[in-house]
Amino acid sequence: MITRLSQLFFRTLREDPADAEVPSHRWLVRAGYIRRAAPGIYTWLPLGLKVLGGVEQVVREEMDAIGAQEVRFPALLPREPYEATNRWTEYGANLFRLKDRKGTDYLLGPTHEEMFTLLVKDLYSSYKDLPLSLYQIQTKYRDEARPRAGLLRGREFVMKDSYSFDVDDAGLAASYEAHRQAYVRIFDRLGFEYVIVKATSGAMGGSASEEFLAVSPTGEDTFVRSPGGYAANVEAVTVPPPAEQDASGIGAAHTVDTPNTGTIVELVDVANAKFPRADRAWTAADTLKNVVFKLTYPDSRTELLVVGLPGDRDVDLKRLEAAVAPAEAAPVTDEDFQANPGLVKGYIGPIKVVDGVVEQHLGVEGPLKLRYLTDPRVVAGTAWITGSNLVDTHMTDVVAGRDFTADGVIDVAEVRAGDPAPDGSGPLSLARGIEMGHIFQLGRKYAEALGLKVLDENGKLVTVTMGSYGVGVSRAVAAVAEATCDDRGLCWPRELAPFDVQILAAGKGEEITATAERLAAELDVAGVRVLLDDRKASPGVKFTDAEVMGMPTSVVVGRSLADGLVEVRDRATGERAEVPVTEVVAQLIALVKG
Ligand code: ATP
Ligand code: MG
Repeated sequence: MITRLSQLFFRTLREDPADAEVPSHRWLVRAGYIRRAAPGIYTWLPLGLKVLGGVEQVVREEMDAIGAQEVRFPALLPREPYEATNRWTEYGANLFRLKDRKGTDYLLGPTHEEMFTLLVKDLYSSYKDLPLSLYQIQTKYRDEARPRAGLLRGREFVMKDSYSFDVDDAGLAASYEAHRQAYVRIFDRLGFEYVIVKATSGAMGGSASEEFLAVSPTGEDTFVRSPGGYAANVEAVTVPPPAEQDASGIGAAHTVDTPNTGTIVELVDVANAKFPRADRAWTAADTLKNVVFKLTYPDSRTELLVVGLPGDRDVDLKRLEAAVAPAEAAPVTDEDFQANPGLVKGYIGPIKVVDGVVEQHLGVEGPLKLRYLTDPRVVAGTAWITGSNLVDTHMTDVVAGRDFTADGVIDVAEVRAGDPAPDGSGPLSLARGIEMGHIFQLGRKYAEALGLKVLDENGKLVTVTMGSYGVGVSRAVAAVAEATCDDRGLCWPRELAPFDVQILAAGKGEEITATAERLAAELDVAGVRVLLDDRKASPGVKFTDAEVMGMPTSVVVGRSLADGLVEVRDRATGERAEVPVTEVVAQLIALVKG
């Protein structure tokens, strides 16, 4: 069937939508692929729906190829299973919760581990039934704090989620590997540049986990790479701790007068002026900075957490959030300081001199009872200049492990380009990416919580071990658009394009119209997907729209038809070729059917 632009439900817009933050969002709206229904919620128009279907098709084929079977769950789900795993609460404000007319609680599924676990429990009871992989391509709901960039972070979005079920760890490793290979094929076919990085497992729990990130400056994730091939989301980077140091030559911790040194820069200047080192100047890296955060747990409980780290580093909020999940973290406010007079802003430190004696100040054992966690670089034997918990004074020669102990280690300092890589292969480099897929070895957490057990070979009941694997299907539409669009519009790879060829009847006259119609009909019969621009519009409008809409090839039937020629344009390369009208159909069939 030939699709005619005169009939197609779409409008191209000459203006950018006001809320467009990234090119993919701008062009998908301007080219008539999607429309916003509410913040983070989009309607798919005919053109957009075709691209979405194309992504689904790629994902479906590759999932089927590893023997995963497609099912589909409802989006509207009962509370009980999510209560059993504690995610009804743990998911926090991101979960859409609702009640039916009887007052019974429901939720709109953000991800379906619980439901899949229960379904398998319902039907299967023996090791002979396993391994099993199930998947669905389905609409998910998350009340994201910051929906942004159109389809990239929606509150309603399409995800492919699959789950593997195995009797033992070796089985899980094999299922995970099969999914990993399928993901490589999926993302190779979708055609954007991507990296596979070590990830944290977030609200899911579980152990081994990797993300597939589309490399893009507009991405919200930052990842690192080492010369030796180590790659990780910054959230998952672990800083190798330096060796413990010998502090026997360091004198006792003591107080120093440091007027007006509420910032690290001021402190370093005063230290160099008032108590300079013999060997070199003090730097920010010699200071131990203590930053306070307020953690809010899903059950609304709050806690102040003090993070101690070298003064030349800041806390990376995303790394912190990943480390304290499911709690959310925010910097403390002046009100929090007022409520905790033991915290002296700008002068916080792990120890305090009370009646001439050095005492631990921070930490659950200290007088404030606040949890105190330090950066991995703060190893035993390292000496620091740090706050004295009194205005205008600091303490120096404060030795970790000798003068204070933290409640634990927290690895949340910003990671910088040039930092040594954990694999020891050299400096790290940093780049940004869009999370397109995430694979985890969940283990037995969900099976245990929901009682999914099978009889093993020896007739013994064993808990099933699971994997969970997601692909952002609607996000992929935007990611491909983001990777391929230019300053004139969208530019689809052939596999995902809504149509193979756009034919433009560019000019008045019976012959132009008739020829465009005939070419469209011949291509259509040959199985080429044709979009015919038969609108009563000027050639200029048609040219512009064709570039905005982004089909890989267009054919202009215009003035040169008088010489028996049409023009074939390649959207990606911009190449134009005059082709005899008698040959163009065969040429296009060869191009499309390859
Ligand atoms: P993010 O870190 O981007 O919030 P996530 O880690 O919460 O994502 P998962 O639970 O791993 O996401 O979901 C699997 C996949 O679903 C992700 O890799 C991503 O491609 C997609 N996805 C997640 N949240 C959204 C969203 N709000 N809008 C569109 N796609 C999403
Ligand atoms: Mg994820």
